Amino acid sequence: MLVAIWADDLGLSMRAMVLSEPGPIQSGPLRLLEVPVPIPAGGELLIRVRCCAVCRTDLHVIEGELPRRKTPIIPGHQIVGTVERLGPGCTRWGVGQRVGVAWLRHTCRQCQFCATARENLCESSRYTGYHEDGGYAEYTIAPEDYVYEISDAFDDVAAAPLLCAGIIGYRALARSNLPRGGSLALYGFGSSAHIVLQIAQHRGCEVFVVTRGAGHRELARRMGADWAGESAAELPKKADSAIIFAPAGELVPAALAGLKKGGTLALAGIHMSPIPPLDYEMHIFHERDLRSVASNTRDDGRALLAEAAQIPIGPHTTTYPLADANRALQDLKADRINGTGVLVIAGLNVGQK
Ligand SMILES: [Zn+2]
Ligand SMILES: [Zn+2]
Repeated sequence: MLVAIWADDLGLSMRAMVLSEPGPIQSGPLRLLEVPVPIPAGGELLIRVRCCAVCRTDLHVIEGELPRRKTPIIPGHQIVGTVERLGPGCTRWGVGQRVGVAWLRHTCRQCQFCATARENLCESSRYTGYHEDGGYAEYTIAPEDYVYEISDAFDDVAAAPLLCAGIIGYRALARSNLPRGGSLALYGFGSSAHIVLQIAQHRGCEVFVVTRGAGHRELARRMGADWAGESAAELPKKADSAIIFAPAGELVPAALAGLKKGGTLALAGIHMSPIPPLDYEMHIFHERDLRSVASNTRDDGRALLAEAAQIPIGPHTTTYPLADANRALQDLKADRINGTGVLVIAGLNVGQK
């Protein structure tokens, strides 16, 4: 019988980008450190990380815009890797299997929200790279019940952005009530928006993209957006649905004004600057709805991964070595990444696309 000798036996260490003290990303608050390889407890997997995409929420954690939950912390919650070791009692996955780890990593399964298929609102939810260490490292731990299967339709780097940008975009799209064949306005054209664009097009919808970056507008047009422009006032027509991805509350009134009667605006951010006063007649009346999006359920994650594999979705990515995580996040903050930044950590599976 083959017996795996592991960290607790040998005290192995790994490289990780660690946040000891939140601070502006320009100051390079993540430091490359050698830390012990974590040991999976009951129901947890030890995962060898192949790559981890960066997300605006990582920036909010690193710059201290979200309340601190664990210090020091290894950020990162769009993780693609392989199962290295099973903790006691694990039954769902096998060693060597490729899996994905996302933001949601624990729910109580008992509260009124968990009991009604809304575990994204669970009072006791916990998140990867926030409450527990995430994927800016060579290894990470995840509860086996909260890990996703990754289809062979995607190589590692292409799969990583689906795990937050994709899942949150998917939930935001559901929250925006986009009718089949309808029209959708997207505000901001980062990681989530460019995945949502592909899904909406596949569903036969018209897509308008509003973004200040000329490069983002060009990418949107290249990807087949029906229109891309700089402000909501220029939209070619009113939309059935809209999603604001940019963390900018000042976009809300114009986005509501750009909706048809009965239209819905979904706010996809976890953090947003103040929303200016709304005018009832201009922004809300005629049954226009304004809805927020909070994380996702595991069902959202599985549905997105299945639909993405079917289309198949091809996220645009820019790769960085693990040690350059600060630079990747600086580029994200300055809007210099077209698509999604992905930290590459271990040997990649690129042969299956
Ligand atoms: Zn709950
Ligand atoms: Zn995220």
